[in-house]
Amino acid sequence: MSRTRFGWGLIGASTIAREWVIGAIRAQAGAEVAAVMSSSAARAADYAKANGIPKAYDTLDALLADPKVDAVYISTTNELHKEQTLAAAAAGKHVLCEKPLALSVADARQMVEGCRNAGVVLGTNHHLRNAASHRAMRAAIKAGRIGTPLAARVFHAVYLPPHLQGWRITRPEAGGGVILDITVHDVDTLRFVLDDDPVEVTALAQSGGMAAAGLEDAAMAVFRFGSGLIAQTHDGFTTKYAGTGIEIHGTEGSLIGRDVMTQRPIGSVSLRHETGEEALPLAQENLYERALRAFHAAMRGEGHPAATGEDGVWSLAAGVAALQSAKSGRVVKIDPGL
Ligand code: NDP
Repeated sequence: MSRTRFGWGLIGASTIAREWVIGAIRAQAGAEVAAVMSSSAARAADYAKANGIPKAYDTLDALLADPKVDAVYISTTNELHKEQTLAAAAAGKHVLCEKPLALSVADARQMVEGCRNAGVVLGTNHHLRNAASHRAMRAAIKAGRIGTPLAARVFHAVYLPPHLQGWRITRPEAGGGVILDITVHDVDTLRFVLDDDPVEVTALAQSGGMAAAGLEDAAMAVFRFGSGLIAQTHDGFTTKYAGTGIEIHGTEGSLIGRDVMTQRPIGSVSLRHETGEEALPLAQENLYERALRAFHAAMRGEGHPAATGEDGVWSLAAGVAALQSAKSGRVVKIDPGL
């Protein structure tokens, strides 16, 4: 009989866990947040108390030795993800890891291999492919409703809220910068909606006054996909009033998603074609709860996470290529090496 109860250990006393993922874990039948680990004992204890978590640890080994922990959710800063994933896999724990999986594509591939060899599930927390809007767009494209997709535009320039204006804008060594933070989400969303992979990219980055240490706080990129489709993305930490969206334009129609590049289950999608415009029905649902549901099923041996480790390698490969392009001024090939 497959197991139905899973204890989770949080690696990282993070904002994203507090705001979204703890609740999404607790929304799953048979799931418990059993422990949290922080590099600071005081922060671990405070976080555990504030979030009703029974155990607090200040070392990875202690968390991984806890028999109540079957799976870990890694939401530390990005330079730590690889080592923590490999240690968790070696301890036989399933891993849901935040994006970007790592700082290099080779490291991310190693994480996929490590989890595969250990026989544990690896998921990447690309939440957007769980949105009703993006699922409706993917279904409409698969049903042929816009003909052949030719172009896409992603509007994901937002304002980084003051409580998150930390390592993202000050620490290159932690994987700061908007490309590894947001462009990777765009690429994952496009791969999901289009069922297609990017092959090359050209990008320009900007330091518009918020980010320091040579980090970019806005970027525009153009990706070419395997089908020949071209996609442009605009990502930012500095844009207060732009709003978000995604558009897919095909030979027979256009899909227009508004307010859909967000953590919240909101927004709309309309389909424009020869005879007019219609709103697609959206069964809105918490994106993170849906991701955790798929992850729990995968741990039971039923299916795979909403975004797999391989999906995380792909989005990182595209992000790394965009960074290289912004630096070199050249078009860069995207190669996940999978
Ligand atoms: P936070 O800055 O909230 O947390 C990251 C780390 O910072 C924590 O693990 C913690 O280390 C440390 N930290 C937190 N508070 C303090 C403090 N007061 N003083 C010193 N250190 C502190 O990051 P986010 O939650 O925004 O992001 C974490 C990860 O999640 C990143 O990989 C990010 O890319 C990803 N993310 C994903 C999202 C998604 O929707 N998929 C959305 C947002 C982020 P320690 O654990 O040692 O205490």
